[in-house]
Amino acid sequence: MSSPLASDALALLHRVFGFKTFRPGQQAIIDAILAGRDVLAIMPTGAGKSLCYQLPALMRPGVTLVVSPLIALMRDQVAQLRALGVEAGSLNSTTSPEEYQHLRDVLRAGEPLLLYVAPERLARPGTLEYLARHPIKALVIDEAHCVSQWGHDFRPEYLTLGQVRQALGNIQTLAFTATADTATRADIEQRLFPEPPERFVGGFDRPNLFLAMRPKTDTRRQILAFVKAHKGDSGIIYCASRAGTEALADALSVSGVRALPYHAGLDKAVREANQDAFVAEDGLVMVATIAFGMGIDKPDVRFVCHANMPRSIEAYYQEIGRAGRDGLPADTLTFYGLDDMRLYRSRIEEGAADDDRKRLDIQRLNALFALCEAPRCRRQTLLAYFGETIEPCGHCDICQHGVVTTDATVEARKVMSAMLRTGQRFATEHLVNILMGTETDAVREWNHHHLPTFGVGRDHARPVWRALFRQMYAAGLIEPDFLAHGRWTMTPRGNAVLRQGEPFLVRADVLDAASGTPGRRP
Ligand code: ADP
Ligand code: ZN
Repeated sequence: MSSPLASDALALLHRVFGFKTFRPGQQAIIDAILAGRDVLAIMPTGAGKSLCYQLPALMRPGVTLVVSPLIALMRDQVAQLRALGVEAGSLNSTTSPEEYQHLRDVLRAGEPLLLYVAPERLARPGTLEYLARHPIKALVIDEAHCVSQWGHDFRPEYLTLGQVRQALGNIQTLAFTATADTATRADIEQRLFPEPPERFVGGFDRPNLFLAMRPKTDTRRQILAFVKAHKGDSGIIYCASRAGTEALADALSVSGVRALPYHAGLDKAVREANQDAFVAEDGLVMVATIAFGMGIDKPDVRFVCHANMPRSIEAYYQEIGRAGRDGLPADTLTFYGLDDMRLYRSRIEEGAADDDRKRLDIQRLNALFALCEAPRCRRQTLLAYFGETIEPCGHCDICQHGVVTTDATVEARKVMSAMLRTGQRFATEHLVNILMGTETDAVREWNHHHLPTFGVGRDHARPVWRALFRQMYAAGLIEPDFLAHGRWTMTPRGNAVLRQGEPFLVRADVLDAASGTPGRRP
């Protein structure tokens, strides 16, 4: 259906913003907003989220209130909008008296206005009452992941936004975020919307990036070969430790590659000098911890390599995303191994977070490991986590070289019957105990040692079963409930494997050692 409003939107896109066409996803979001629906839009940074709420704001009289966490960001947006001739202003600690007066006039006239406001400002007595006297059309929540304690940028002030919405008469609410993390998304929906919003996920694919992942064997030599194959290119190699970055930068330098280390333990002056060199020079390789990369504007990074596995799919996506921002082909290669798993796992377990958070972080780690081990197109598996469906991409190691698989249908059925017989209410370790026939206190307490599935999995080692959970998740057979301690539930695909004879394939090495690391025991 193409409403008259939709064509008005396109006209405004040309006339006000000077753009010819919508970017992927924008049109659908704008249509939903104009139809009055609540929206949660998840798009990567740079995809053009702002336009999705700015354009509808111009098409309706009244105020669009935009909650944004950073004053600097607010100021930029307001300045840009005014340069386009759009009425916009901001309420925060730096707003001048003249500015207030101007805003009051615009508010009184009832013209379309984009009003940016800091969340702590909304919490101040009087602000909401004042705003509520004016026609507020919509509440926009930018960087909506700030509302979630599962996210990486939690802000307590965001927790009151549900009440703000109510105080303003339950107005249309539009939340935007770049977070790719399922648990955070579920949390955002729960906290900001009384009813589930219309959800849009899009634009995560970066087709110019080649994706490859390899188990660690002789990693140093493989990295050298990879870097030499990219002679003259700028690139980033991520390492898990500070010492690792220095050792690898030395090794690269010895073999004639210009490489510098970067980590938070270096002198500030050295760190800045290395970063400047990376931005200014061509063909420099930065060997860095994850401290490097944020806010660095270098569009022609031609490769990103992970000497160690990243900690989550979201981290992986962000880090490889620093390659090929210019849209030209770029190469990525990620090494993974059980040693990384063990290191991160113990870091999480020994950390200060509460138990729920720890469980969630371990799930995130498992999800990435599952991606590393999955026998399916990398991009398909990666984008499936973000909620996007694509055909096999032809531009990843698995599409190009394939992988030896083995049939694990019997194993998958054992896992799922253990899940079903326990009411789909348990997480990995308890279910593995049942499969392995291990009588823990919890198993006895629930009487699970009398189940027919108790002990049916003794033909495989414990790590094999853990790997099978990861693989079944990556293949979409089972799903963890992040808000309920990561208990597993079955999907329709899982049902097809359990009951309708659909086969379930895994990489051959998963059933051998569950390590993804040939030649090494877990
Ligand atoms: P996000 O908030 O998703 O990180 P922005 O809203 O800042 O992204 O947009 C990123 C850039 O894309 C901005 O420079 C914006 O002007 C531009 N942009 C947005 N929509 C379009 C479009 N339809 N056509 C061309 N450029 C666009
Ligand atoms: Zn592929």
